[in-house]
Amino acid sequence: MIQQIDKETVREAVQMAYERCKNETGGKNADYIPYLANVPSNLFGIAACLPDGEVIAVGDTEYRFGIESVSKVPTAILAMNQYSGEEVLQKIGADATGLPFNSIMAILLEKDHPSTPLVNAGAIAACSMIRPAGDADAKWKAIVGFISELAGGEVEVIDELYKSETATNFNNKSIAWLLKNYGRIYDDPDLSLDIYTRQCSIGITARQLATVGATIAGGGVNPVTHRPVFKPELAPKITAMMATVGFYEHTGDWLFLTGLPAKTGVGGGILGVVPGVMGLAAFAPPLDEAGNSVKAQKALSYVAGHLNLNLFNTTRCVMRACEPAQV
Ligand code: GLU
Repeated sequence: MIQQIDKETVREAVQMAYERCKNETGGKNADYIPYLANVPSNLFGIAACLPDGEVIAVGDTEYRFGIESVSKVPTAILAMNQYSGEEVLQKIGADATGLPFNSIMAILLEKDHPSTPLVNAGAIAACSMIRPAGDADAKWKAIVGFISELAGGEVEVIDELYKSETATNFNNKSIAWLLKNYGRIYDDPDLSLDIYTRQCSIGITARQLATVGATIAGGGVNPVTHRPVFKPELAPKITAMMATVGFYEHTGDWLFLTGLPAKTGVGGGILGVVPGVMGLAAFAPPLDEAGNSVKAQKALSYVAGHLNLNLFNTTRCVMRACEPAQV
């Protein structure tokens, strides 16, 4: 039987997760992007956005950190919204690579498609698909506007991070041009890579990220603004992609332990989606060797376990006395 939880229980779980994890010292800031190496390592925040738009937030949930790979989620939804889930599946794919997020080997091994929009190759391909083709400004407006709609508030690029990424993204340059070699990029490779680099450099808060999660959890309707942001049938598709590859080569372990579809970024953020129930986010810069935030993983794992949010559990919880946003 499905159990019901109330807001107070969620508040307690978020607070307890914060207390239990705040002194965790494992991991190390990403340093291959110089800006990220200098973000204060002790920042830590957790947020849950509920179906009525209330955000329960503890810690540094107003700090704007680099969204990094979590941006792959909105752009994948936007590509599916502009085309269709099936067309994105055919042009990019939805398979986990089992290899690191920036793997060139994965492209060489899977010549027929770039695997999934949630690794670098597929994300650069997704940026190339965003309409209108060839118009960098209009493409960028479409992406940044879409992320702002999902987050329920304006987001913008952290200039210093964008410069830092642009000066050091040699591996991603190789990916963009290798995709071109295999006919798997759908606009100019340099333009597509620049859009990808810009989207990774967007600053977002844990509060906004939890709202992104709640918008996906609510089938595309933002519970804070009450606005429909994308087609409802795409919510289970993006959630499935997150579940299969959100933690790169550690995804199976994460899903086995928590049953929570989630996506990490090397800026230290993690976005979690509990379909029909809530959006979750946690942020702390130090990462494990696969590029996933150590503290944010522990925090979300605690919240998911404590509230019984495991998607695969027949007795998993739903929210009580908290009506979904009306369109
Ligand atoms: N901008 C980063 C890169 O392309 C994002 C990586 C990540 O967050 O996993 O390397």
